[in-house]
Amino acid sequence: MNHLPNFTDSLKQLIATPSISSTQPSWDQGNHDVIQLLAAWFEQLGFEITIQAVPETRNKFNLLAKLGSGEGGLLLAGHSDTVPFDEHSWQSDPHKVVEKADKFYGLGTCDMKGFFAFILQACKNLEVHQLKKPLYVLATADEETTMAGARFFAQQQLVKPDVAIIGEPTSLVPVVMHKGHMSHRIKVQGQSGHSSKPSLGVNAIEIIYQVIGELIVLKEKLALNFVNQSFDVTSPTLNLGAIQGGDNANRICGQCQLDIDMRSLPGMTDSELIHLLADALKPLAEKYPNRISFDELHPSSPSFEQKQQGSHLVSLAEEISGHSCCAVNYATEAPYIQQLGCQTIVLGPGSINQAHQPNEFLAHSEISKTDTILMKMIQRYCLS
Ligand SMILES: [Zn+2]
Repeated sequence: MNHLPNFTDSLKQLIATPSISSTQPSWDQGNHDVIQLLAAWFEQLGFEITIQAVPETRNKFNLLAKLGSGEGGLLLAGHSDTVPFDEHSWQSDPHKVVEKADKFYGLGTCDMKGFFAFILQACKNLEVHQLKKPLYVLATADEETTMAGARFFAQQQLVKPDVAIIGEPTSLVPVVMHKGHMSHRIKVQGQSGHSSKPSLGVNAIEIIYQVIGELIVLKEKLALNFVNQSFDVTSPTLNLGAIQGGDNANRICGQCQLDIDMRSLPGMTDSELIHLLADALKPLAEKYPNRISFDELHPSSPSFEQKQQGSHLVSLAEEISGHSCCAVNYATEAPYIQQLGCQTIVLGPGSINQAHQPNEFLAHSEISKTDTILMKMIQRYCLS
């Protein structure tokens, strides 16, 4: 296997192969080249490779690599895309790994192409005949925008590992919980007219004022009725984010819209939250028939919880990382991966504080700890 790159070279090649995903078409790039790079490496190691086009994306792909056969096993998962970058804030070329002060700088070093470089090294010494259970590597598309890759992968149910580890940058602390996220646009359709004749129109701003009142009541109810002490912000949140409506002081406002964001706690489903929203707006919807509607702005991402009690994965992750598991505020692909029916945690090198930031880096100090965690996980779930 001498022709496979070492850790630093594989990291350099991954970072030098841009795969930005963005809802803005001018930024959005394909991930085909990164997927091909990973496919070539893992194929050399004896993995069986499946590459699938992900529906509803701009020509993006998921990669699944499998070593060994049989039931169960371990899935190591990550996303192949990165966020866009702010060129003027970077001190080096984001697509070129620069080593400085015991750190690797580059876009995707910690979030999270670097994780694949670690997996590659961990697999170098594995012989397929040693494996009692399969080892899977999954690289998804468009995590940073729609999570279309993970959603598609979960729908297909191609594999059923015993456990899954998603290598997002958690500073090697096992993450077992995060909130869900959804955003909606509430539209009010009024009737415009001359401001001197209020009775001839329906003022959308006056209706949205009442909508806001109901939403603030809902926000308070959420805070009162749902609490999870594992989070710094212990309740679901509801944020009034943007408002737009009307055009002129002397016209009755004919249309107004309000964008809101809600973050659910684990255990609450998206439909439960949507139901609460619909309930809150119901009296106004009855008072103003066919004038109030709401729609999702983006696909929502569900909340995530891996039950800690009785989970051998959580116990082992705590033991080998030396950290107790925790809850975080950012969303990941974990709720989708969990739909495969496996115990799932998020655990990876690098800090979320560096993710999505200029001068993103991965510290050298994470290398040997990550190697150890991967080795021990492979040992536990595939070799014994
Ligand atoms: Zn990430």
